[in-house]
Amino acid sequence: MKKIAVLGSTGSIGTQTLDVVDKEGDLRVTALTAHSNVELIEKQIRKYRPDIAAMDLPDKAAELRLRVADTDTKVLSGPEGVTECAACADAEMVVTAIVGIAGLDATLAAINAGKDIALANKETLVTAGDIVMPLAGERGVNILPVDSEHSAIFQSIADQKKFLKRIIITASGGPFFGMKREELAKKTRFDALKHPNWTMGAKITIDSATLVNKGLEIIEAKHLFGLDVDHITPVVHRESIIHSMVEFTDGSVIGQLGVPDMRLPIAFALTWPLRKVPVTEPLDLVKIGKLTFYDIDGEAFPAVEMAKKAARTGGTMPAVLNGANEEAVAAFLRDGCGFLEITELIQRAMERHRPVENPSVADIKAADAEARELVREALN
Ligand code: NAD
Ligand code: MG
Repeated sequence: MKKIAVLGSTGSIGTQTLDVVDKEGDLRVTALTAHSNVELIEKQIRKYRPDIAAMDLPDKAAELRLRVADTDTKVLSGPEGVTECAACADAEMVVTAIVGIAGLDATLAAINAGKDIALANKETLVTAGDIVMPLAGERGVNILPVDSEHSAIFQSIADQKKFLKRIIITASGGPFFGMKREELAKKTRFDALKHPNWTMGAKITIDSATLVNKGLEIIEAKHLFGLDVDHITPVVHRESIIHSMVEFTDGSVIGQLGVPDMRLPIAFALTWPLRKVPVTEPLDLVKIGKLTFYDIDGEAFPAVEMAKKAARTGGTMPAVLNGANEEAVAAFLRDGCGFLEITELIQRAMERHRPVENPSVADIKAADAEARELVREALN
């Protein structure tokens, strides 16, 4: 039995991870953490019987402790409790399915404790990739990507990293593909939450509509695969069947295909280097008929270029892009700002920021806080 800890077990990736655990049969869950959904984590504790669990919100932790008092699961409280679960769980691998920079401390703690990481929490690499990747190297920790594009890139590179020339990262284009700025200006959170191919948490669904998600993924790929962002080409692929491709020095392009179902990359990360039971429907290419590709419209969707710029600047700039985005998306989700304002606010935060080179974790958190404050002020 391989032992795993699941951080963010009540979310979209968290629940799909537990579904993969049910299918695989030889994985044991030793720790679970969540933010506020006490009902769901209680059900998960009763089913998976982890040694420890944690709730990020202390009053929810207190409630959970009472609810599961009859079990052997110890309940920890607050962000420190989540971090302790990441570091202390009796687990070989930690699945980081927390959303946002909130997952950074727990990811670092898990790496420091020598645990392999199944990484869904891309914001951790976007903000602190220059700290996370070397630390993983020092600790001899494997980072297995859960993001479908990065799983595809990892699988396509296989053992030929030295011949890697370029990454071609695919993007669905989101629900507003083909629209111009005038049309985008009128879009509400209800429109933006309707993704054509994937069912995901609210934050990443909005990121997919603005294409900020593709920008974050380009920075994530830069850190995971050690290529500068100018060697990572995004391409819109509406059907989300080719999850990404790599081009080698000889001109060969290798890609990974599959139905758009996150359980595939999750299972790959959990069982690597093995492949085990089927976790999704088989891919039926004849039924799909054709695969289409388009350029990104940089005028309607400036986020990809903004992310590349943040990556080229480096230091604390990607943390500012990410922090401004997290704050603006939270505002958009409560009707506190317009759709186009999300990228405008990111742009403004990046323009105002004086980046710190070779930042510490404290510098990164300060840059994140500064960007959030700027967005809140702008929306006041
Ligand atoms: P989600 O909102 O559905 O779930 C987030 C989880 O994190 C929940 O369990 C929640 O309780 C927990 N959480 C939220 N805030 C927290 C905090 N402050 N402290 C501790 N825990 C907290 O999100 P999701 O869609 O599952 O995404 C999770 C991560 O995976 C994100 O980084 C996202 O970009 C990435 N990802 C998701 C998908 C997808 O299909 N959903 C695909 C690729 C990558
Ligand atoms: Mg992705």
